[in-house]
Amino acid sequence: MDDDACVFCLIVEGKRDAAVVYEDDTMMVFMDKYPISTGHTLVIPKKHYTTILEMESNDVCALFVLAYKIAKAALVAVGAQGFSIAQNNGKVAHQVVPHVHVHIVPRYINEDRGKWPSRRTASMEELRTIAGRIRQQLLNDNSSTTTMDVELITD
Ligand SMILES: [Zn+2]
Repeated sequence: MDDDACVFCLIVEGKRDAAVVYEDDTMMVFMDKYPISTGHTLVIPKKHYTTILEMESNDVCALFVLAYKIAKAALVAVGAQGFSIAQNNGKVAHQVVPHVHVHIVPRYINEDRGKWPSRRTASMEELRTIAGRIRQQLLNDNSSTTTMDVELITD
């Protein structure tokens, strides 16, 4: 695939607008334009790979360590009680954009349990506000671990 036609490559190159949370030499984090939940964030390598199988294992490791850090900050920033991390590879796995990305989807106590919330189109203003809150939380973040309630659902 031609990198110029890839929407995430265009965001990396600054040719397309996105609500950016974080950026360094190799990674970029921005808000999903069609969020499943409030605070839905994407973590991507700047280099164009279609699936993680094209990446070196060390780079996959770095990608998921960053996803962990972003999830931790996003959870506090949006006041969610949990989160899901998803990374789809291939059309049959519902990968829509052919550039590796990790979804961080905050989950809320009041959402319909067991159901995956449907996507909506968010305004850039809303996304930038949330991105700013997550960015602030990243600065506040310390290295302490967090405990979270988990529940075995039996019904
Ligand atoms: Zn790309």
